[in-house]
Amino acid sequence: MNSKKPIYVTQPYLPDLKEFYPYLEAIWESKNLTNGGVFHQQLEKELCRYLGVEYISLFSNGTIALVVALQALGIRGEVITSPFSFVATTNSLVWNNISPVFSDIDPVSMNLDPEKIESAITKNTQAILPVHCYGTPCDVEAIQEIADRHNLKVIYDAAHAFGVQCHCGSILKHGDLSVLSFHATKIFNTFEGGAIISHTPEMKRRIDQLKNFGFVDEVTVVESGINGKMSEINAAFGLLQLKHAKEVLSERKQVAELYNRGLKAIEGIVIAQNNLSDESNHSYYPILVTKNYRISRDQLYEKLKSEDIFSRRYFYPLISEFPMYQNLPSSTPSNLPIATEIANEVLCLPIYPGLGEDSISKIISIIKASAS
Ligand SMILES: *Cc1c(COP(=O)(O)O)cnc(C)c1O
Repeated sequence: MNSKKPIYVTQPYLPDLKEFYPYLEAIWESKNLTNGGVFHQQLEKELCRYLGVEYISLFSNGTIALVVALQALGIRGEVITSPFSFVATTNSLVWNNISPVFSDIDPVSMNLDPEKIESAITKNTQAILPVHCYGTPCDVEAIQEIADRHNLKVIYDAAHAFGVQCHCGSILKHGDLSVLSFHATKIFNTFEGGAIISHTPEMKRRIDQLKNFGFVDEVTVVESGINGKMSEINAAFGLLQLKHAKEVLSERKQVAELYNRGLKAIEGIVIAQNNLSDESNHSYYPILVTKNYRISRDQLYEKLKSEDIFSRRYFYPLISEFPMYQNLPSSTPSNLPIATEIANEVLCLPIYPGLGEDSISKIISIIKASAS
């Protein structure tokens, strides 16, 4: 690998271009470019099998899928969610006229802390929107127990959780609905794309209707749906990616293991638990740069940047700190002490298939050199 080349936090996996030509030829041949074509149907089938779920609806992106998931369940009022996520999680609530209520995260899993959820529930609460952050499973049992007790729906933002398994199979089986993102920066990508996992044929039908303007047949529109359809070219690329999913995951695991070994004994650096678990999909490589480290997180970020290594401060700022959300009652740092601290310490290091061993060693040695 050329060490002069900048190293970004992620690079999409791209199979050999020649492997994509047959898919393009088939699309040109059929002249069927979208609207639930052959590749769309095939990708739904293959993803169900790969992910171990029963019903999936493909979308043009994960954000529209989140918006539609909330529509499909008819959620209004207030929804409890995590401030430690990508801003689309909360934006999807606002696009449904729902009031977001932020609740603090657990310091180890970095997911919503079930013990804090209950005190955020009011008579207006209708659902919980947790995030499997970095692909680390939420405490799905505790969350479901709270939801059942208060008659709330649960929609998981599973944008990071492609292929993640828990003790009972796919993590995507939990909650009422789970939403995936297939954006170029995610571990399985269709350039842009997303999906909703549902658990009944009726719910899948409802979702498919909503993503297609509300059409049920050629002349019947029963609700104000949106256009959230995935095109044939995106679906075809997804089928090709899926063929390489195993090697992508194993290459990511190798990168994570090199980091785990190189970073484990550095004073003040904490490796987040998602990369220490055997079940991890290694979708991100977050570390915490704590007060025991010689320089601050931002100084380390700048130091790496000066060497053309572009780490990312996911998730900083917190969603609750953006101007449109900072005045909500639940946005105060005193309500979110753990999330506030972690947002100030977290740094996601480059991880992707093809990130060379020499690059990984270089990153580790820079982090070592800046330690006490
Ligand atoms: C990427 C991401 C989304 C949005 O997905 P898009 O496909 O980019 O619209 C939502 N939530 C989380 C946590 C994400 O990381």
